[in-house]
Amino acid sequence: MDKFTQQLLETDRQRVFHASTHLKQYAQGDLAGRIITHAHGIHIHDSLGNQLLDGFAGLYCVNIGYGRQEMAETIYEQAKKLAYYHTYVGHSNEALIQLSDRIIKMAPQGMSKVYYGMSGSDANETQLKLVWYYNNLLNRPEKKKIISRDRGYHGSSIASGSMTGLPLFHAHFDLPLERIKHTVAPYYYLRHDSEMTELEFSHYCAEQLETLILNEGPDTVAAMIAEPVLGTGGIVPPPAGYWRAIRQVLDKYDVLLIADEVVCGFGRIGSPFGSIYYDMQPDLITVAKGLTSAYQPLSGVIVGEKVWQALENGTDAWGPFGHGYTYSGHPLGAAAANCNLDIIERENLIEVAADTGQYLQSKMQQMFADHPIVGDSRGVGMLHALEFSANKQQRTPFDPNLKVGPQIAAACLDVGLIARAMPHGDILGFAPPLITTCEEIDVMVDKAHYAINKVMDKLVTNKQWYPRD
Ligand SMILES: *Cc1c(COP(=O)(O)O)cnc(C)c1O
Repeated sequence: MDKFTQQLLETDRQRVFHASTHLKQYAQGDLAGRIITHAHGIHIHDSLGNQLLDGFAGLYCVNIGYGRQEMAETIYEQAKKLAYYHTYVGHSNEALIQLSDRIIKMAPQGMSKVYYGMSGSDANETQLKLVWYYNNLLNRPEKKKIISRDRGYHGSSIASGSMTGLPLFHAHFDLPLERIKHTVAPYYYLRHDSEMTELEFSHYCAEQLETLILNEGPDTVAAMIAEPVLGTGGIVPPPAGYWRAIRQVLDKYDVLLIADEVVCGFGRIGSPFGSIYYDMQPDLITVAKGLTSAYQPLSGVIVGEKVWQALENGTDAWGPFGHGYTYSGHPLGAAAANCNLDIIERENLIEVAADTGQYLQSKMQQMFADHPIVGDSRGVGMLHALEFSANKQQRTPFDPNLKVGPQIAAACLDVGLIARAMPHGDILGFAPPLITTCEEIDVMVDKAHYAINKVMDKLVTNKQWYPRD
């Protein structure tokens, strides 16, 4: 390592507060840092000269791939022309107007307006405020509780972190907030009753939701928030019939549905939106990651007609809507999003993702369906998860202390592949850029296969696991 890099890494240890990091191990140098220097296409490069195939598109966001000159130039041109102006009291800019019109035209039926933020977390925070305000307008001050799901991921701010259904994001932060309740995850692989079909399991999930609503009191439940496909909680596509069953329960008790499309939106699963793919008919939609492919921070709250009408009428009684971020509708973000959508359109990336996604799914199945430590190989479009299991037939997890998931992710890195050890369970996640070719999928899957076998051999050598027949 050259001297400059060494110095940088040391300053990083002293000055940068990293998320999801064992702070002490990192500060003391027991945990390696990595400085990313540049990136192109589906590869990132670090200051040690490594080239890594990014099988997770950053954090499932760099959908068009890295290093697009066109994106850089668009942002530069926008910055020269108008780097910033606020969007309060009717102020707007051309990039923002065009973007909003495009989003509504791409979105599922019945959407009306877009409010902008900088992150998925702040957008979900806005969603909550809209829903509360909406029920106050309708004179239902009790109807405020939000239902999320175990293993849902909705961000890590106070309200969005509460909606997230992962213990790591709650413990020691005094979360979740009182008004936020969790129902079961549509996690077919982890079902208790092995006999259940997918459809039966979906009905079980809907019954659990209904029971929760009835126990809390339907007059107190305002909305459900959910990702079309569970993301950070384990990359879990819904079982057959799930969304139809859930939608019926929500309709019955007049509960709004917020589709958190931060991962699925703009092509990730081979459809413009996950809620179109699964016919979820949401009332509100959250977008972020795929909106700009992360070239600029930008998120959006897409408001459906029903909620919008109430908000619009409400201003007669209550005056201007008292919510606003300095950077809402930021021109650089809007310009980046427009250029991102141009690229997606021109290169047909949504259809490409559907085709390549199908290839990814079948390749994974072919490689891992019979693998001794892969309990489940699941996914949709350009999302896939391998869940590791000590006993494939009985779906028994590994002892968490063995850290099989993190070990495999580390073994992948050793062979130049980034795949993500998901935070809960021994799950290796894949979400490559949508531009990834089938040949590159082959490389990715082969590398993962090699890494998994390597860790399996190590488990056998260490007598921590042995093959069964
Ligand atoms: C990443 C993510 C968020 C949070 O977005 P941030 O930009 O990290 O705040 C919200 N919802 C989902 C589904 C996500 O994947």
